[in-house]
Amino acid sequence: MKTIIEPFRIKSVEPIRMTTRAERERLLKAAGYNLFKLHSDDVIIDLLTDSGTSAMSSAQWGAVMIGDESYAGAPSFYRFEAAVKDLMDFRHIIPAHQGRAAEHLLFTLIAKTGDLIPSNTHFDTTRGNIEAMGAEALDIPIAEGRVPSLDHPFKGNMDLAALKSVLEEQGHRIPAVMMTITNNAGGGQPVSLENIRAAAALAKAHRKPFYIDGCRFAENAWFIKLREPGQQDRPIKDIVRDCFAIADGMTMSAKKDAFANIGGWLALNDDALAERARTLLIQTEGFPTYGGLAGRDLDAIAQGLKEIIDEDYLRYRVRSNSYIAERLDAMGIPVVKPAGGHAVFIDARAFLPHIPPLQYPGQALTCAMYEAGGIRACEIGTVMFGRKPDGTEAPGAMDLVRLAMPRRVYTQSHADYVVEVLEEVAAAKNSLQGMRIIKEPPMMRHFTAEFAKL
Ligand SMILES: *Cc1c(COP(=O)(O)O)cnc(C)c1O
Repeated sequence: MKTIIEPFRIKSVEPIRMTTRAERERLLKAAGYNLFKLHSDDVIIDLLTDSGTSAMSSAQWGAVMIGDESYAGAPSFYRFEAAVKDLMDFRHIIPAHQGRAAEHLLFTLIAKTGDLIPSNTHFDTTRGNIEAMGAEALDIPIAEGRVPSLDHPFKGNMDLAALKSVLEEQGHRIPAVMMTITNNAGGGQPVSLENIRAAAALAKAHRKPFYIDGCRFAENAWFIKLREPGQQDRPIKDIVRDCFAIADGMTMSAKKDAFANIGGWLALNDDALAERARTLLIQTEGFPTYGGLAGRDLDAIAQGLKEIIDEDYLRYRVRSNSYIAERLDAMGIPVVKPAGGHAVFIDARAFLPHIPPLQYPGQALTCAMYEAGGIRACEIGTVMFGRKPDGTEAPGAMDLVRLAMPRRVYTQSHADYVVEVLEEVAAAKNSLQGMRIIKEPPMMRHFTAEFAKL
């Protein structure tokens, strides 16, 4: 069959409140043209993030009722631990309330001032936790990963020559090597099993631990199955197990590839390090059998991990993104190629060449998408990265707009609607204006800044 259907039926629905263009223009103006400030019930299709926005299954909601809220030793923890170990067989599984809490535990224990931690590309919270320890977060993606229009099967890969030389030249500063799968900050692009193995082998040769930020491990495994020679006939579970078998530990946000609305974990093989992590966990998150989560959350994660490796789901998941990307591409809207696992990225700088980077073409596009069709997307460009710590401003490396897809939430007709709204925006693109910032905080301005149209 050519049609890839949503491999689920809908048992419980959330109504979408429809709005008019006039209403949306008024609401967006009142929000200072910052989409983070909108109330979500004023949004028709919310593509701000795929984090924590998944639809849970009937089995997950059933598991929520089985959740045991005992302070210590709850069966929910043991079901969670067994579900994680079934995919990622680390000795110690330490729950945390989200991915960044797991990162905080790890880097508090292994990083110090002057250290350097290489990765294919650190996610922003990972970078934040490393920099908070006075260490340097070094991104070394392959060169192809930095060119939006270039097609490559594993654009998320690490540059192995760069890893080798940094290990040789700066080894004394390196407490660990990280790998992010899929490469979120790099566009949700996958990393090949070959690249994961080669990076792990280089780390091992220099006696450095190798950690995986595994937030989108199932999407990454699906891309490996689709694109990596020799992997086509293998079950997703075997591919996932291979990815983690060569690592010393992992950090995870269960808000991504575990279909949960909250949660995460740190996994480790090193007994002494795990002991220290649990002590810190008790101080900051909670007792080691709940780590800042309710028992019902642990059960929702355990069930979600069983569902996320389903091939019918992964086929639908990845195909729904590439479908949108292909249709936008056919209309001449520049998109990052190929489509990533969890999002479609539009190159707003190329799409709106009449708006210079310091007039925020990405912000102008996200505002136009909301006004035209009530779609909320996220600017990833000069608004997010343009303000430097010394107070000056410079264009970001790119001006992208990310359409992140919540898992199992939207259907094919929602995807068609997104395409149609962008068609309307494209038809009037020359009339779109740049923007200026009228109010901004000293850091992380994209969350709270206010804008005006020029
Ligand atoms: C979301 C994310 C994190 C942080 O997880 P939270 O649960 O949001 O704290 C870390 N790394 C990557 C790659 C992510 O996508």
